[in-house]
Amino acid sequence: MEPVPGRMLSCPLCCRQLREPVTAACGHSLCRRCERRSRGCPVCLEPLGDGLQGTRVNVLASGLLHKWFPEEGQPSPVTESGERPISQSQQNLSLAATDCLQKEQATLTQDDSSEKYLIFQPMARQATNELSEESTHISGSDEDNVPYSFHCLQSVPPGLLNISDFECSVCARLLFEPVTTPCGHTFCKKCVERCLDYRPCCPLCKEDLRKFLQQRQYRVTQLLDSLITMYFPAEFTERKRLSEIEIAELSNLTNDIPIFVCTMAFPGISCRLHIFEPRYRLMMRRCLETGTKTFGMCIYDRGKIFADYGCMLKIEESESLPDGRSLVNTVGGRRFKVLRRGDRDGYNTADVEYLEDKRVDGIQLTDLCILHSRVYEQARNWFDQLPSILQGQIRSEHGPIPDREENVQASPDGPRWCWWVLAVLPMEPGLQMMLLSSTSLQHRLMHLQRALHYLVQNQIM
Ligand SMILES: [Zn+2]
Ligand SMILES: [Zn+2]
Ligand SMILES: [Zn+2]
Ligand SMILES: [Zn+2]
Repeated sequence: MEPVPGRMLSCPLCCRQLREPVTAACGHSLCRRCERRSRGCPVCLEPLGDGLQGTRVNVLASGLLHKWFPEEGQPSPVTESGERPISQSQQNLSLAATDCLQKEQATLTQDDSSEKYLIFQPMARQATNELSEESTHISGSDEDNVPYSFHCLQSVPPGLLNISDFECSVCARLLFEPVTTPCGHTFCKKCVERCLDYRPCCPLCKEDLRKFLQQRQYRVTQLLDSLITMYFPAEFTERKRLSEIEIAELSNLTNDIPIFVCTMAFPGISCRLHIFEPRYRLMMRRCLETGTKTFGMCIYDRGKIFADYGCMLKIEESESLPDGRSLVNTVGGRRFKVLRRGDRDGYNTADVEYLEDKRVDGIQLTDLCILHSRVYEQARNWFDQLPSILQGQIRSEHGPIPDREENVQASPDGPRWCWWVLAVLPMEPGLQMMLLSSTSLQHRLMHLQRALHYLVQNQIM
């Protein structure tokens, strides 16, 4: 359905032009006075409840209404300090409004509490009827006695439309997926998320947004989103296209892949991560948003920032903690060689080439299969002789030892159990790195054989 220009600016509860709009956590906006007396959002029925306690007037929306319809008695926009200059006539208006409010509250308190919000329905119905009659003026018999005259649901005066009014103060671009914080400020969804990675407060007014962060309800402010798509369709399409290009770039899994510089990861082996650094919070969110759920893991390398080889990790599960940190369960994917290093918004990136074991056949394959079986048995025996408490620890961290594989060359990374042994053995990171980067299964098996032999000989657990 095509949005009706005027209807966009109406309050879903009183059906009149929005006055002092506040935006609920669900993204719908209603007049402040309507919101204060409504239990649920009139559009989506989501409870307004605690979420709205202390929610301030939507600064952008209220500023626009004031600019567009100064004659409608829109209160002047809230100043930075949260105060607004009040003229005598406005004072009279607000006194009358308070009086009117008190009368209504008196009616409400006599009412059954569970029915409280229903009192507004006849009023809404009346306004809707008048709307359907294409009336632009509410008749004088308005029983609500609203102390300001208003023309119902007008369109925005074209001369007063200015795209710069819809600029995000964080990225200085057209607001995309605008989200309004409880302090009433609006930013692009991705911009506010990124700001909150660093500090849990509003980028503009510094108000504490910890509660907002915990609830993580970054829902788009429908009113502003509709105004942008309605009045700036070309600019909106371009902004959306840029956002999609950014997402496509982030989804590329060979060029500029995000690199987490932390620990050794191996193909098929689970890896649990605790994400607390802002740059990695952003990285994880992007991995989830783009749907790739994948990033590269490399260990630190003094001279090069991160090592020449690494392993892709796929997010299997992500648990967000109230303070914005998260616990992420991942599992290793393909191994890669770093071709080029880069960075993006504070985290490292790389162009990579995936590694593949060299395939062998004939007598070499027969020998490889014999070696494979022998080292597998050796690994099992080593694990079985470990104290049971240590076995339990290894199992809980890396899972049980994987089964021996029938086709040793089935995967380009070789049998998974080899990586499990490599992850579990107490081994120098340098040697682990060398084996991770090796594309010869025979080479890896021989090193494992030697390491297992050494551990058993020296009774090292
Ligand atoms: Zn209203
Ligand atoms: Zn809603
Ligand atoms: Zn922005
Ligand atoms: Zn703010």
